[in-house]
Amino acid sequence: MEKENKERLVKIIASAALLVVAVVVSKLTNLKMWQELLLFLVPYLIAGGETLKEAAEKLLEGELLDEDFLMSVATLGALAIGFIPGAESQFPEAVFVMLFFQIGEFFEDMAEDKSRDSITELMDIRPDTASVERDGATIVVNPSEITVGETIVIKPGEKVPLDGVVIEGSSSLDTVALTGESVPRGIAVGDNILSGCVNLSGVLRARVTKPFTESTASKILELVENASENKSKSESFITRFAKVYTPIVVVLAVLLAFLPPLLSGNFSAEFAKWLYRALTFLIVSCPCALVISIPLAFFGGIGGAARKGILVKGSNYLEALARLGTVVFDKTGTLTEGVFEVTAVHPETIDEKELLHLAAHVERYSTHPVAVSLRLAYPDEADSCSVEDVEEVAGQGVKARVNGKTVCVGNSKMMEAIGVPWKDCEKKGTIVHVSLDGEYVGHIVVSDRIKADAAEALKALKENGVTKTVMLTGDKADVAAEVASEVGVDEFRAELLPADKVSEVEKLIAGKPDGRSLAFVGDGINDAPVLARADVGIAMGALGSDAAIEAADVVLMDDKPSKLATGIKAARKTLGIARQNTVFSIGVKVLVLLLAMFGLATMWMAVLADVGVMVLAVLNSTRALKA
Ligand code: ADP
Ligand code: MG
Repeated sequence: MEKENKERLVKIIASAALLVVAVVVSKLTNLKMWQELLLFLVPYLIAGGETLKEAAEKLLEGELLDEDFLMSVATLGALAIGFIPGAESQFPEAVFVMLFFQIGEFFEDMAEDKSRDSITELMDIRPDTASVERDGATIVVNPSEITVGETIVIKPGEKVPLDGVVIEGSSSLDTVALTGESVPRGIAVGDNILSGCVNLSGVLRARVTKPFTESTASKILELVENASENKSKSESFITRFAKVYTPIVVVLAVLLAFLPPLLSGNFSAEFAKWLYRALTFLIVSCPCALVISIPLAFFGGIGGAARKGILVKGSNYLEALARLGTVVFDKTGTLTEGVFEVTAVHPETIDEKELLHLAAHVERYSTHPVAVSLRLAYPDEADSCSVEDVEEVAGQGVKARVNGKTVCVGNSKMMEAIGVPWKDCEKKGTIVHVSLDGEYVGHIVVSDRIKADAAEALKALKENGVTKTVMLTGDKADVAAEVASEVGVDEFRAELLPADKVSEVEKLIAGKPDGRSLAFVGDGINDAPVLARADVGIAMGALGSDAAIEAADVVLMDDKPSKLATGIKAARKTLGIARQNTVFSIGVKVLVLLLAMFGLATMWMAVLADVGVMVLAVLNSTRALKA
């Protein structure tokens, strides 16, 4: 429990006890009205002092119409009512209402703390300590004190504290907290390890590649913690609703207090009765249940999705996911593994080894999956050759100067751009052409595998209301056609530059059905601009670049396209809960408001209904967290 809430609990108990004392004393003795007021004012101020102060502060800022204000006016009115000639005093009621309002607030804080705790607990990925090798000894320090390039040691059972690359040892890692994937991942020398995973079997030594604040665990926690800042439409609706609703309620209450007694012709006899009804009306009209439970539902929904390895950066994206109509996929790294293998080498004027050598050198700094495969195919890449003036052309390839000669490595678009005639290949796959000082020296064929769950993912999307799926790729049309038919996307467009992908997505957005959203799913290599342009940009996490994780609105941590359908389901559930709460609490409010208007509801009933509805709505909201 937070300190603030502990204080509140103490105040509630003290105020309740003093209320009982005040009731007993006022029954046993024969106090004057003002003496009785002083007696009840003590528990009233203990319980409601903070609320009164806040309402007064907001009043001075010109921002008066929220639940603190409503409760303050209603209870002050109840305290004053006894001084009207002919009216019964309502001191205990006033204190009780204030007290119950505090109990409601207390409960709300508890529920919020609890869902926050359960999210952070389930995402228990923040490492507390790290073992680092310094001056020949291994010492335990706070992970934030470790710098890039240092060597850390991770024993079995320990959490990986920072992102790094394994330099000694082999083991398997439990990645469930990060990806929702329960099958352990085998790890050996040279593999990247992500902070937040748990080392299961062997001792690992790793070189740190990212500082603590940029490591995966910190990034994810930051993401989830900040997600509540991106408000959904339902949430902003609640804020706007309260802005219009509360003034209307206040005006109605004033009318209710004054109009009927005025019309009755006997104002002084009727006023006290109608004032009481108006005050009851004010209490009932408090929008607490909505104001509290809707954001809590979204908070839970984001937490629940995170537990399944789906990071949603805000509740507005949860809402967009629930309305998904069109899904556009990138090919490489999204529907395919993005792990290419060299399947053929066809040199023209130089020998095979030389061709691979040139290609690998030019790709020295590229992170593109094609580049990675070319470097792997030529193991001695890091030799003493000079590689300068490297220029990567997105969607085409890379140009560089190798030992003083200009070498271009890329697809047919690149060859055409530099005016080098190229030869086609009868082999299936992505063709990487190579030119040396403007002369064509041959090509290398690389190919990729389709992800195991890609076809299933497309099917699941259709089952969840997605009406159109499209694949966009910079690759050749024949490779694209094959992947498209194998995974079952409705349409595909090939040989696109990154800018073409943006315009394709814009066209699709313009043509999509009303009220439905469009998602782009990519790995972030060459597609960050499209991720930003779509209604929901979805990045494949572990393989994807940092740029993609920054640009995306949703990150699928385990790179599985099938997680998209899981995300849609979670989003729908959250929105359903929000809707139930809205209907239920507005329904009960309207009912009690009507009763209050006709004098059938007491102040006690009003505050019980208000807090009761809130408690039920909050409990309903916590369901969003559960899978
Ligand atoms: P996709 O749309 O399938 O993700 P990209 O836009 O990343 O593909 O790249 C499109 C094409 O451009 C690739 O299929 C490849 O032929 C070529 N290409 C891009 N980057 C490189 C590179 N670094 N080396 C060689 N070829 C590249
Ligand atoms: Mg790509």
